[in-house]
Amino acid sequence: LAKERSKNNYQFFTNELHQAIAKKLKIEGDLRRALDQNQFVLYYQPKVDMVSSKIVGMEALIRWNHPELGLVPPMEFIPIAEETGLIIPIGEWVMRTACRQLKEWHEAGYNQMSIAVNISLRQFIQNDLHEVIKRILEETDLLSEFLELEITESIAHDAKQTIRILNRIKSLGVKISIDDFGIGYSSLSYLSQFPIDRLKIDQSFVRHLNPRNQAIIKTIIDMAHNMDIAVIAEGVETEEHVEFLKQQKCKEVQGYYYSKPLSEIDAYKFISDYESEYK
Ligand code: C2E
Ligand code: MG
Ligand code: MG
Ligand code: MG
Repeated sequence: LAKERSKNNYQFFTNELHQAIAKKLKIEGDLRRALDQNQFVLYYQPKVDMVSSKIVGMEALIRWNHPELGLVPPMEFIPIAEETGLIIPIGEWVMRTACRQLKEWHEAGYNQMSIAVNISLRQFIQNDLHEVIKRILEETDLLSEFLELEITESIAHDAKQTIRILNRIKSLGVKISIDDFGIGYSSLSYLSQFPIDRLKIDQSFVRHLNPRNQAIIKTIIDMAHNMDIAVIAEGVETEEHVEFLKQQKCKEVQGYYYSKPLSEIDAYKFISDYESEYK
C-alpha cells in the first residue's frame, strides 16, 4: 500500500511539475508576441502621505492580459522576461506608458503627483538605460523629478558599476528608491555610497508586526530620517499597521488599506474622490 501511495504521489508530483513546466514554456513563447499584440496593461497603486493626507504618487504595476490564461501576475512572467531579455522592450513600454499617464493626470490638475516604475536588474545594467529615460521624458514632456525608479537590493552586487549607473541616472533628475528594503543581501555601506532618495520597507515586516519586525521597521525609519532619505512602508493592510507607522513617524504608506492597484480609469476616480474628500 505504501509503495502504491508513493507511486501515486510521485505521479501526482510529476504531473504538477509537468504542468508547471508546460505553463512556463507557454508563457515564454507567448511573451514574445504580447507587446505587439497590446496584451500588457498598467495598474496603479496610490502612495499616500498620512500627514498631509494627499496622494503623493502612484506606482505602476504591469499586468498581462493573456488571451487564454487570463490575467497573468508579474511574478509569473517578469522573471522569464528577465531570462530572455524581453524585459528590455517591456520595461521601456512600462516607462513610456507610465510617464504618458502621469502627464495626463498632471494636465487634469493633479500636478504634484509622481510616478514610480519598477526596474529589474537586467534593465538596470543595460548600457543605455539613461538614454532611454531621457528620451521618454522628452517624448512625454514630463519633468524628471516626477519619475521615480524602484530598484531592489539585487542591483548592489557590483558596487562600482552600480554607483556609475546610479549617478548617470540621477544626473537626469529622476528619483531612485530601494524597493523591498530589508530582505535582500544588502550591506549598510552601500547606503552611504549610493545616491538614493527613498527606502521602501518591505511588506513582509509590516505584514507580521511582531516585536522584532516592529524593531526593524523603527530602525529603518530612524536611519532613513537621520540620513535625510525619504521612507515609505508598503503592504499596509490594516488600521493597526497605519497606527503603528504613524507612531513611528513614517509619513508615506502604500497598501490595500488605502487601495489595491487600480486600472487607469479607477485610478483617476480614486485620485479625484480622494482629493475632494480631503480638500
Ligand atoms: P513590488 O514592486 O514590491 O510591488 C508590490 C506588490 O505587492 C505588488 O504586487 C502589489 O500589488 C502588492 N501589494 C501592494 N499592496 C499590498 C498589500 O497591502 N498587501 C499585499 N498582500 N500585497 C500588496 P504585483 O503587482 O503582483 O507585483 C509583484 C512584483 O512584480 C512587484 O513587486 C515588482 O517587483 C514586479 N513588477 C511589477 N510590475 C513590474 C514592472 O513593470 N517591471 C518590473 N521589472 N517588475 C514589475
Ligand atoms: Mg515596487
Ligand atoms: Mg516591494
Ligand atoms: Mg518586489
